[in-house]
Amino acid sequence: MTFRAKMFLTALAAAALAVFVATTLVSWSVRRSLEQRTERELGTDARMAAEILSHRSAATERELDAEADALGRILGARVTFVAEDGRVVGDSDLTADQLRTVENHGTRPEIVEARQRGFGAAQRHSATIDDDLMYVAIRVRSPGMPRLAFVRLALPLADIDRQLASVRSLAAVGFAAGLAAAAGLTWLLSAPLARRLRAIDERTRRYAAGDLSRSIPDYGQDEIGSVARMVDSLTHDLANRLAGLEADRARMAAILSGMIEGVLVVNAHGRLQLANDAARRMLRIDDAVEGRHYPEIVRQPAVARQIEAALAGRPTESVELTGLRDDAVTLIARTAPVEVSPGRGAVVVLHDITDLRRADRIRRDFVANVSHELRTPLTAIRGYVEALADADPEESRRFLEIVSRHTLRMERLVRDLLRLARLDAGQEVLERVPCSVDALFSAVEVDLAGLLTSRRQTVVREVAPDAATVPGDPAKLQDALRNLLENATNHSPEGGRIVMAARRAGERAVITVADEGPGIPPNDLTRVFERFYRVDKSRTREGKDPGGTGLGLSIVRHLVELHGGRVTAANRHGRGAIFTVELPA
Ligand code: ADP
Repeated sequence: MTFRAKMFLTALAAAALAVFVATTLVSWSVRRSLEQRTERELGTDARMAAEILSHRSAATERELDAEADALGRILGARVTFVAEDGRVVGDSDLTADQLRTVENHGTRPEIVEARQRGFGAAQRHSATIDDDLMYVAIRVRSPGMPRLAFVRLALPLADIDRQLASVRSLAAVGFAAGLAAAAGLTWLLSAPLARRLRAIDERTRRYAAGDLSRSIPDYGQDEIGSVARMVDSLTHDLANRLAGLEADRARMAAILSGMIEGVLVVNAHGRLQLANDAARRMLRIDDAVEGRHYPEIVRQPAVARQIEAALAGRPTESVELTGLRDDAVTLIARTAPVEVSPGRGAVVVLHDITDLRRADRIRRDFVANVSHELRTPLTAIRGYVEALADADPEESRRFLEIVSRHTLRMERLVRDLLRLARLDAGQEVLERVPCSVDALFSAVEVDLAGLLTSRRQTVVREVAPDAATVPGDPAKLQDALRNLLENATNHSPEGGRIVMAARRAGERAVITVADEGPGIPPNDLTRVFERFYRVDKSRTREGKDPGGTGLGLSIVRHLVELHGGRVTAANRHGRGAIFTVELPA
């Protein structure tokens, strides 16, 4: 049932009730006033009758009854004469013969009252004439009618009922008209209200469906307007808060998924609430983990123990995890208790410290390598210096030459180490200018002229016209190329041919140094650029002079990368190695 129908029916019921109550009250009050008036009139008539009778005389019962009949006709009411002992001695409605059979009226309420106070009135159903009657009795003192003590007037109440019926029907018509008007008005007046409610209902339904595009129109200052405004503001407020929460959640999710560290959150019941992408990756967790118990998900006993301790409120120490995905990866897990609602949960943070560990290992290896590289010449120097004491002049000269060679080697080593340290620390600044490739090639050839001549080697230059100049730092490029040419010379046979070439490949300038030496074993092609890496390890192990410092290619790689380029090693098809330097042109 619609609100309007309900309202209408309620108003109708209220109006009908009001009409019923009003009609009842009106008829009650009209009846009362009619009765009072009738009683008053009957009283007046009775007094008048008493007055008339006081001057009349009637000796026999028949005369008395005739008096009663005459009086009844005058007054238009039933007139009864009652003797002091209550016997009926005259009645306008009964014949003289009938009077004898009438019961004694001495106990009738109106007669009892009249005997006591001179006047009495009553209403009751008359068995004699089977009708509701109003009775009025008055004491009469008539010298001419000694047997007469009371005269009683009676009027049927049906008269009053008749009058009342017309009043009632009039009232009913009036009230029915009022009721119809009230119903019509209610129906008409409820229309705008129903319309407003329908509009609010429609908008709230849209709100519930998530459409907040339009607000509920302002419906004025009454309660409906105020409810509509309240619903509107609450809904928009709620929507704003939800949007805020959603934004917070998205931000949080973005932060968590963007984090390098893995994060796991376990609630007070030991169920996983969150595992970010990094944590899933690190611990190899599959997707649907939220809500599951942590021992099912976290398969690393050390981490599980940490979570257990954190949930119990015990302090935990960070643990290092290895052998997870691959042996190279090292993680460190820290777990802390957190207050989550409800109770205490745990947050596990996982850091990938693989790089840190690798750097540490490299540093340790490097220190060991440097110590080893320095110890070899130092041991030799000490040996020959000690031997000098007993040596003859010829031997002394030879020993001193050896000492000098080792000193030179140490000097070179320290020089290269310092250079690498400078490059590592980013202390070398790059000056990028257009460099003539021919000039660079000539300069390194001049630098190594002695070596080339002694080994009777020739250098062939092949510079493509579009690669005649390259942008770069000439001194650094010269250092890099000198290293490569020196390696090529050292590994090429005597009388060999070394090709230095330059060409362009797209956006890059490519410089190559190719020799006719033994080449490099395929497994070592990338490793030759590591510090102290040598293909032929036997030389250093046996304490022989290894020739170079093992740092040359490392320095080359640093210098080339400083230019934004890269250097690679490969073997030529025929014989020999080829080093390729690519520079951004
Ligand atoms: P080194 O100073 O000992 O030459 P590098 O770093 O320059 O050190 O070279 C590392 C290793 O790479 C060398 O020990 C050598 O075994 C190998 N290598 C370098 N250049 C060549 C080449 N042109 N032919 C063959 N092997 C080479």
